[in-house]
Amino acid sequence: MNTLRELLERARATLSPSSEDPLLDSQVLLAHVMGCDRSWLYGWPEHVPDTPQIQQFERLVAQRKAGHPIAHLTGEREFWSLCLGVSHDTLVPRPETEDLVEIALGLDLPPDARVLDLGTGSGAIAVALATERRGWQITAIDASAGAIDVARHNAEQFGLSNIGFLLSDWFAALPAHRRFDLIISNPPYIAMGDPHLTRGDLRFEPQQALVSGIDGLDAIRHIVDTAPAYLEPGAWLWLEHGADQGGRVAALLRQRGFGEVRSHRDLAGHDRHCGGRFDAPGPHPGRGSPP
Ligand code: GLN
Repeated sequence: MNTLRELLERARATLSPSSEDPLLDSQVLLAHVMGCDRSWLYGWPEHVPDTPQIQQFERLVAQRKAGHPIAHLTGEREFWSLCLGVSHDTLVPRPETEDLVEIALGLDLPPDARVLDLGTGSGAIAVALATERRGWQITAIDASAGAIDVARHNAEQFGLSNIGFLLSDWFAALPAHRRFDLIISNPPYIAMGDPHLTRGDLRFEPQQALVSGIDGLDAIRHIVDTAPAYLEPGAWLWLEHGADQGGRVAALLRQRGFGEVRSHRDLAGHDRHCGGRFDAPGPHPGRGSPP
C-alpha cells in the first residue's frame, strides 16, 4: 500500500545512505507534493495519495538520492523568514548570508539609502533588505538572466517596489553617474578545483555563482577595485567571502583605500564577512601635515 506512513518510510530507507537527514528530506518532499505542512502528514498517516502524487514523490526522492538540493526540488528556501523561490539558475540562499543582511541593517544609513546588491541570485539579500527598509532604493544586479527572473519574481511576491533589477556583469551595465550608500555582495569565492565543488549541493548549483578564479578571489578583487567609483564619500562596501579569506579580503580593502575595515564571524566561528568605508578622494585635513 501507499499510505503516507509507508511512502515516508520507504523514502527514508532509500535516502538513508546518501542524505544527512533522510526523514526530514522525505517529509519536506512529500509535504511539497501534497501541498500541505509536514505536520499534516502525521495527522493522516493512513491517507493514500493519488497515483500522480505518488509518482511525483518517487521522482523527487530519486533526484534527491542523486544529490539534487532539496531547495531545487521544491523550488523554494526560507531566508530571513521569507519563503523565496530558487531555481537551477541561483545559488540556494545560505543561513550565513542572513548575517550580511543584519550587518547592513545595523549600519547608520539614511532612511532613503541607495543600496547596490551585486550578484543578487535569487534576490535573497535585496529582498530581505527591501522588506525591512521600505524607504531604501535597492538596485540588484546579476549576470544571469535566469537569476534576474527568479529575483524579480521574489520581489513581486512580497509586493516590493523598491528594488530595481539590472542584467549586468558586475558594474559593466551600471551607468557611471550612479552612487550608493552601501554596496553589498555575496559573490562567488570558491577556488577553481576546490574539492568541495564535487560534493553535496554544490555540484548542482551554478558554477558562475560559486567559483572565481584560481584563489577564489577574482570577483572580490574586481568588486573592491571598482566599487569606490560608485560609492558616496564615506559609504560602505560589505562582502561575504570564504572561511580562510578574511585576512586577504581585509588587506584588499585597506590597499584600495577603505577605512574602518571590519570582519565578522559566522556561527561556525569563521571570518565570513568583511566591510569598510570609502573616504572621499583628495586631501585629508591634518593627515600628513607637519605638527
Ligand atoms: N558559501 C557557499 C559555500 O561554500 C559558497 C557561496 C559563494 O560562493 N558565494 O557553500
